[in-house]
Amino acid sequence: MKRILITGGAGFIGSHLSERLLNEGNDIICLDNFFTGSKNNIRHLIGNNHFELVRHDVILEYLAEVDQIYNLACPASPIHYQYNPIKTVKTSVMGIINMLGLAKRCKATILQASTSEVYGDPKVHPQVEEYWGNVNPIGIRSCYDEGKRCAETLMMDYHRQNNVDIRIARIFNTYGPRMAINDGRVVSNFIVQALKNEPITVYGQGNQTRAFCYVADLVDALIKLMNSDYTMPMNLGNPEEYTILDFAKLIIELTNSNSEIIFKELPADDPVQREPNISLAKEKLGWQPSTSVRDGLLSTIKYFEEII
Ligand code: NAD
Ligand code: UDP
Repeated sequence: MKRILITGGAGFIGSHLSERLLNEGNDIICLDNFFTGSKNNIRHLIGNNHFELVRHDVILEYLAEVDQIYNLACPASPIHYQYNPIKTVKTSVMGIINMLGLAKRCKATILQASTSEVYGDPKVHPQVEEYWGNVNPIGIRSCYDEGKRCAETLMMDYHRQNNVDIRIARIFNTYGPRMAINDGRVVSNFIVQALKNEPITVYGQGNQTRAFCYVADLVDALIKLMNSDYTMPMNLGNPEEYTILDFAKLIIELTNSNSEIIFKELPADDPVQREPNISLAKEKLGWQPSTSVRDGLLSTIKYFEEII
């Protein structure tokens, strides 16, 4: 049994990670300020003697004795991280400083939930870990992108300077049950619109691309990475790339929806293409996603049908 701290544990990915690590027999501290997360996501875990829920904001110091830290606290969808961009930067930067301090004191291993957004609007495709990215430092996505880049910098510096044992997961678009219904991300938006037979809102012409990983696969990868000895950044995602227009058509097909597709203005700095190269994860972790996009979407659609 390990003592594991999961910040952002009441969020979409964090709740699946908390559940899985608890079921594997660990002692879990789930820390969250409930900005985008919800008690509903982890309600079924409350009451378990090995699960502790703490309301706390990672921009403030937190003290505990733990063996591993998964730092997931940070709003992930553009409308949420742009709601209070200064707070988003503080969450990423002050949050990771606090967690790295904790890791250093406890000699815990710390995994940072980084993001494909560190590559910005990438000029290298598919994205490999060696690519330094193409990020606008002053745009509306910068609070998230640069916050996450600075967090990676701090991870590497605590590793080099203080020997903290680090893992950096560059997570690509992930979807599944417990995504917030109002988070504005493409998967939740399209599924909810399709289920309500409302127009599907494609931004721009829909020829920008994304690649979508099912949450159970991602959680699997996070745990494998944490328990590996690999300290450099690693891409985690599903390399199956879709244009957003094709993705809209797929959701219409899988939901048997009557929705029409409409085109809306493309948000500023929206990356044109994104697809992970996951050779490193295959080599170092023996991991690759096992859920097809169709199967993953069907279970996500079922979830949204239940909550609508
Ligand atoms: P989410 O918004 O559902 O989860 C984030 C959680 O962090 C929420 O429970 C929220 O309440 C909590 N939180 C936010 N600010 C906090 C703060 N200051 N103090 C304490 N808790 C705070 O998002 P998610 O999709 O589950 O993402 C989890 C992590 O994975 C994030 O760090 C995100 O950047 C990263 N990530 C996610 C994706 C994705 O596609 N879902 C892709 C790349 C990276
Ligand atoms: N998108 C869209 N319609 C929507 C929501 C998003 O066309 O209703 C597009 C968005 O412009 C982007 C892609 O889908 O090109 C993925 O958006 P999301 O916010 O899910 O994630 P991110 O841009 O951070 O990858």
